[in-house]
Amino acid sequence: MLLETIRRVRGTLSLKLTLWYAVIFSLSSLLILFVSYFRISVMTMENINQELIEEYEELAAMYLKGGHDQFLEGLRMETEFEDPKEIFYRLLDSSGKVLITTDMQPWGKIEVPDMSFGELDKAEPFVIHTIALPGQSFQAQTISGLIGTSEIIQIGVSLEDNATYLQMLRGLILWLMAPLFLLAAFIGFLMARTALNGVEDVTQAAIEISKGSYDKRVETKTKSSEIQRLAQTFNMMLNRLEELMKSMREMTDNIAHDLRSPITRIRGIAEMTLLSKTSKHNYEEMAASTIEECDNLIGMIDTMLDISEAEAGVADIHIEDIDLNALIVDARELFRPIAEEKAVTINTNLPDAVRLRGDKYKLQRVVTNLLENSIKYTPAGGDVSINVVVGSSLIDIIVKDSGMGISEKDLPLIFDRFYRGDKSRSQSGIGLGLSQVKAFVNILGGTVNVISTPNKGSIFTISMPT
Ligand code: ADP
Repeated sequence: MLLETIRRVRGTLSLKLTLWYAVIFSLSSLLILFVSYFRISVMTMENINQELIEEYEELAAMYLKGGHDQFLEGLRMETEFEDPKEIFYRLLDSSGKVLITTDMQPWGKIEVPDMSFGELDKAEPFVIHTIALPGQSFQAQTISGLIGTSEIIQIGVSLEDNATYLQMLRGLILWLMAPLFLLAAFIGFLMARTALNGVEDVTQAAIEISKGSYDKRVETKTKSSEIQRLAQTFNMMLNRLEELMKSMREMTDNIAHDLRSPITRIRGIAEMTLLSKTSKHNYEEMAASTIEECDNLIGMIDTMLDISEAEAGVADIHIEDIDLNALIVDARELFRPIAEEKAVTINTNLPDAVRLRGDKYKLQRVVTNLLENSIKYTPAGGDVSINVVVGSSLIDIIVKDSGMGISEKDLPLIFDRFYRGDKSRSQSGIGLGLSQVKAFVNILGGTVNVISTPNKGSIFTISMPT
């Protein structure tokens, strides 16, 4: 159980963040504590030095005021209440001979400072030394200063208390490190947990979704902005996936439906021909119908594949220089017989020599699909026109008809796959023409727009970059 938990936690981002935080926090604290320790040790030494200087200056002033006798009286008074273990005073002559001294027994043998009167003068009347005490673990701080013109006073204080205090401080700092590290690790753990809470929510949502709860979303409120962005992006991705799944489901339903009808027809023709056991001619007719239905099926499947590839952005594109006028005239000639049969006129209004860079096959499909619809949905006597307008950065191909128009309800849906307007059902078609137009125009970097008034006609405008 414990091993399992350790294995799970090891290598997690929370553990790494916790440890990093604990280490950085502990090291920073250690640095701050040691800088403070250093400052304290320097300040205590400065205080000791200051006290020694004041002591010396007091005695020197007494000498100046009352001569040798007054000085000796002052020295006696100074030492009367002092602990000889804490402080010593010695008066030396110019040759270093000790003239007067307090009890030096607790101090062992202290050398007379190696200095000459030349070193001490009015400008620099004293020197301060830290000296080692023979046989002692601590040191002493001493001041040696001029008294009058021929004598030197040496005052020394024990640094034992100071050393004990600093040692205690060092111990305290080291002792503090363990709880500090634990405290830092705890804070780091809390911070890492708060920071990664949102990630955990996203993971939980992903787990639930992978189990089939596709409508699950991550809560986006009350999280840090980064996690909020992650949650929002994750939800956006889920919405998109849901949309894709929905459209795939719809497409599969539509494909099933649209494949079913021609296959049922083929089967019906074959069955009837078989049952009626008629002539060779009937069999030939059956074969011809089967071929026609199969061609329709193949055409539909090809169109669907073309749309899917274009929408997924994986379609092959062969960019070339296209003579747009020629392409439109070819399309017009292709549909002229059908239009004439329906008594629909096709007009073209083309500027001189328009050239366009694009994929010829895809542009042909776009123009023929629009033209075919316009003729299909325009009653006898109506007219259809194709205009080309060249702008500074766009070339517009405008296919206009005076046909049945598109209702407000249908207008937003006509580019969806397999969508067919209610009124159009009497006409042949499978509802893929405009989806293909949109997919092809988009992949070539253009846009498609439609304006339509029911019973008056429609205008489809393709705008392609020049
Ligand atoms: P189909 O023509 O096979 O039905 P399309 O994808 O080409 O499929 O068109 C989708 C729908 O848009 C049509 O069913 C029709 O309702 C409407 N539509 C397209 N073009 C026109 C048009 N020129 N005039 C009126 N309605 C149109």
